[in-house]
Order: sequence, then structure tokens, then C-alpha cells
Amino acid sequence: MADYNVIVIGAGPAGYVAAIRCAQLGMKTACVDKWLNPSGKPSLGGTCLNVGCIPSKALLDSSHHYYFLQKQAAEHGIKFGGLSIDIAAMLARKNRIVKTLTKGIGSLFKQNKVASLEGAARLTGNQAVEITAHNGNKQTLTADKIIIATGSIPTPIPVATIDNKLIVDSTGALAFDSVPKRLGVIGAGAIGLELGSVWSRLGSQVTILEALPDFLATADRKIATAAQRELKKQGLDIHLGASVTSATVTNNEVTVSYQEPKKGEQQRVVDKLIVAVGRKPNTAGLEAAEIGIQINDRGFIQVDEHRQTSVPGIYAIGDVIGGPMLAHKGSEEGVMVAERLAGQKSEMSYETVPWVIYTHPEIAWVGRTEEQLQAAGIEYKVGQFPFVASGRARAHGDTSGMVRLIADAKTDSLLGVHIFGHSASELIAEAVVAMEFQGSAEDLARTIHAHPTLSEAMHEAALGVDGRMIHA
Ligand code: FAD
Ligand code: NAD
Repeated sequence: MADYNVIVIGAGPAGYVAAIRCAQLGMKTACVDKWLNPSGKPSLGGTCLNVGCIPSKALLDSSHHYYFLQKQAAEHGIKFGGLSIDIAAMLARKNRIVKTLTKGIGSLFKQNKVASLEGAARLTGNQAVEITAHNGNKQTLTADKIIIATGSIPTPIPVATIDNKLIVDSTGALAFDSVPKRLGVIGAGAIGLELGSVWSRLGSQVTILEALPDFLATADRKIATAAQRELKKQGLDIHLGASVTSATVTNNEVTVSYQEPKKGEQQRVVDKLIVAVGRKPNTAGLEAAEIGIQINDRGFIQVDEHRQTSVPGIYAIGDVIGGPMLAHKGSEEGVMVAERLAGQKSEMSYETVPWVIYTHPEIAWVGRTEEQLQAAGIEYKVGQFPFVASGRARAHGDTSGMVRLIADAKTDSLLGVHIFGHSASELIAEAVVAMEFQGSAEDLARTIHAHPTLSEAMHEAALGVDGRMIHA
């Protein structure tokens, strides 16, 4: 008999959720993780809780408060003197949030009777996992099923080598001990825009170098254009089509050289440089290929539609299999795999995975863009409502952006919803639910929305699909 019904490797949002759901369904479950925090202590929650979603949002909120007080409070009649920023206190707050939440996963494991094992896991075949503890001790455990959830790590680029002093990845950029006067960012993706925003709000002059010619190439074009304009107003100097050729450290500065369309060779001297050009699957030391698990040419573990690898009984979920590298996508895959192991017929719908970028205002979307629909030859109608016409947005003092709702021209079913605006991360949930229930624009148009709320913009955009908006 195996030691466990299930061993989950990795306690990020994919792995810890899978482990809890397996245990809830009566399986004897262990979850092994090797993460050590900066003090050398094991810490659950993976990238998301330790150096990703949570600490970045903590700093985004802190920096937004500072920016608001500095630039917008006066408009509300709030006057004060001597505003200052204490970066050490801001980082300490972020670290406390991380500590509370990562410890919380430990409590959830206890509550659900998941055995939490500390150390690095290696697959040795025949459903066995060798675990090397942080003190070097080894043990081998067996399981009927194994779920790999080893996540991802930042992608390095040869032209800008991380030195963790002046040139950093996202982890380093969450821990600057002072505000860099001049900050360079390579990559205008989610990390570049979020962490670029944090330090820009705190006073850095931020230059973002993006290789692609289009801003946020996968987002709706009108939303991307509006967001780019707004972020520029906030001080983010975004260069598109910029190809970085070198980043050289001299005298405590980094000289970044890049080629820009029409301008040719350019240089920027910065005090810190963040490299944020994507993340790659983390399979180091796992020895997955050695036991016959197929890995694709980009290093992602290959799985079937129910996340089983090429080795029967071994599954993989989260960032390590690719697709959207998002915490909630990994968590839902964890639930699906756990429930299927328990004999249920759970499925996951990838068409309704929401995307959010936590700039201010936020950018959020679900479903397809106009460009994707055009390419697929699908006829559609669009309803668009600007927040400038929303009473609640006016009260907030945050009127930039809009909701764009796309419905099938023939059936009226919702195909995509794209939002740039205050609280877009919360507003998008309504669209996700409506799409998950295979709703139509008319369903949202006939749904009563409280007044005054930002969600009325969703209602109006739904009315707009049929040309009957009231407030615009
Ligand atoms: P991970 O969270 O990477 O966890 C993998 C775990 O596996 C780690 O704990 C690691 O220690 C462990 N592990 C790896 N190999 C082994 C081994 N051999 N043995 C034992 N343990 C092992 N996503 C969002 O949805 N929203 C956001 O707002 C968001 N913000 C982000 C901000 C930043 C700065 C970054 C970097 C990422 C952000 N992400 C966000 C992405 C999100 O963090 C990832 O998609 C998510 O963490 C992936 O979850 P995972 O469980 O697949 O992997
Ligand atoms: P990303 O894929 O979101 O963006 C990377 C950007 O870098 C892209 O625009 C890409 O074109 C650009 N790029 C690539 N190589 C380049 C080069 N050599 N020079 C200049 N630009 C280059 O990746 P990220 O921002 O590093 O984030 C990593 C992952 O973490 C993403 O998959 C993202 O989904 C996830 N994440 C999500 C959130 C969120 O959900 N809010 C926040 C942060 C990170």
C-alpha cells in the first residue's frame, strides 16, 4: 500500500488548493514544498503569496494611498502638510501581510489534515517521490497519484543579467529599500506595469522598454490605447518596439542600450533596472523527463485535457504546464484534478479565465477581443460605456476608462468583456459569471444594478449592445 493517496509537489496557489481539495474529498494527502523565505524559514504559498500577487498588491495599495494624498486629496478638500514616505515601514507592512497569509496556508493544511512536508521533491519512478529536507535528510514516499505544481521562475535575458543589486527581477523590485531616482523596466507586461506603477507613484522616473510594437498586445485595442494614454499621464515613459541590446553596470548606475524604431540606437542611465519579460516553467531538480514525463520545447510539462501527464497517475497543474500564468487558473486546475481523482466529472472552462492588471485604473478582461473575433470570422456587436458618464465614478474622482461589452451579433451571447477603470478587478466578476452561465447582453441589460455603483457601467454597456444606453 502506498504511503499516501496523493502527494502534491509545490504549495503555490495550484498545489495548496489541490492538496486541500484532495483531503476534503477523503484522500490521505501530503504537500511538499521547498520554499525558504529571506530569513531561511519554510514558507507556504509559492510565488503568489511570497513574491507575487500578494506583496505586489500590498505595495500597489500603499503607493496608491501616497499618490492619492500627494496628487488628488486636495481636490476632495483634504489639506495637510509634511507628507513623507517611510519605505522601511511600507515594506514591513507588506512583509507582515505575506507572513500572515503564508502561515494561514499552514493552518488550512492542519485543519484539512494535509501533511505538510518541507524540502525538495524529486520523482524517482513507480509513484515514488524522494524528498530532501532543508537539513539534507532524505526520505522516499509513495502515492497512488502525484500532482506536480512546481510553478515558474522569472525568465532571464542574456543582455541584462540579474545581479540582485542594480539589475533585479520582480522579487528584487518588491524589496528596494529606497525609491530609485531613475528606474528602468524591461517588459511592459503585468509585472512591468504594476511594479513600474508602484515606484513611479513613490517618485521614480520610470522608463519601460517593451519589445513588441503594440502596448498590451493581447488586450482589447481600445482598452490598451486608453490605458497607455493614462499611464503616460501618470509619468510612465513607455517605449514600444524597443529592443534592448545591453545593460552595463558602472559607478552604481546601469546604462541600458536599446534600438527603437525610427530613432535607432538609444541609451538610458538608470539607478535600478527591473527585468520583467515573462516567466518560465520551474522543473529544476524534479527529474520529470527522467521518468518519462513529456516536456515541450518551451520546458512546460505536457498534459491532457484533464491535466494528466504522459505518465499515468501523475498530473500537473498551474504555471508549470503553461497557459495563462495566473494564480486562479492554477487553483481551479487543482480543484478539477482533485475532484476527478475522487471520481467526479469536473471540468474547467478556460474561456472564462479573467485577466487583471492592477494599474490604476485597473485593466481587466474575460473572453475574446474584437480582433480575435474578426480573425475567427464571428460577427459581433459592441456596447461601450465611459466611466466619465458614471455618477459613482465622478464621486470617486476617477472617471477615466470604460466598459466594452461584446456580444454575438446573431445570438446576443456574451463573447468578451473588457474594462479599464476603477475597481475593474472586481467588476469583471459579473462578466465572468454571466459568461459562465452562457448569458447574453440582454441578460445583463435586464439585471437590476444598484445605484450609484460602478457596476452600472456594465449594465449600460449591455444596454449599449442594442443601442439603448440611457446615460451616454
Ligand atoms: P508557484 O506559485 O510558483 O508555486 C510553486 C511552488 O512549488 C513553490 O512554492 C516552489 O517552492 C515549489 N517547488 C518547486 N519545485 C519544487 C520541488 N522540486 N520540490 C518541492 N517544491 C517545489 N497572478 C495572478 O493571478 N494575479 C496577480 O495579481 C499576480 N501577480 C503577480 C505578481 C508578481 C510579481 C509575480 C511574479 C507573479 C504574479 N502572478 C499573479 C502570477 C502568480 O504568482 C502565478 O501564476 C502563480 O503563483 C502560479 O502558481 P503555481 O502554484 O503554479 O506556482
Ligand atoms: P508578461 O508576459 O505579462 O509580460 C512580459 C512582457 O515583456 C511582454 O509584453 C513581452 O512582449 C515583453 N518582452 C519579452 N522579452 C522582452 C525583451 N527582451 N525586451 C523587452 N520586452 C520584452 O510577463 P511578466 O510581466 O514578466 O509576468 C510574468 C507572469 O506573471 C505573466 O504570465 C503574468 O500573467 C503573471 N503576472 C500576473 C499578474 C496579474 O495577474 N495581475 C501580475 C504580475 C504577473
